[in-house]
Amino acid sequence: MAHMSHEEALEKKLAERLVLGELTDPEILEFEEHYADCSVCSSSVPFAQIFVANLTALLRERQRSSRQESGDLPELDDFGPEPEAEL
Ligand SMILES: [Zn+2]
Repeated sequence: MAHMSHEEALEKKLAERLVLGELTDPEILEFEEHYADCSVCSSSVPFAQIFVANLTALLRERQRSSRQESGDLPELDDFGPEPEAEL
């Protein structure tokens, strides 16, 4: 999945809607990917602390409630744009 552009993030008002708690799970993940890659958002978006604190808690809570049987929570770091070794 290609990362969204900054223009697309603005167009969808992802930042505003994230603060308002209106984003769906896929949208949250989309914005998280964009946020990690976008120097504009990561340096200028004023809700970085909200993003880190609340989003992390929110995702953990959702994963916990949807993965109760596995008992094995994925690391949130897995959502980052980490390069995979493919040799
Ligand atoms: Zn951006």
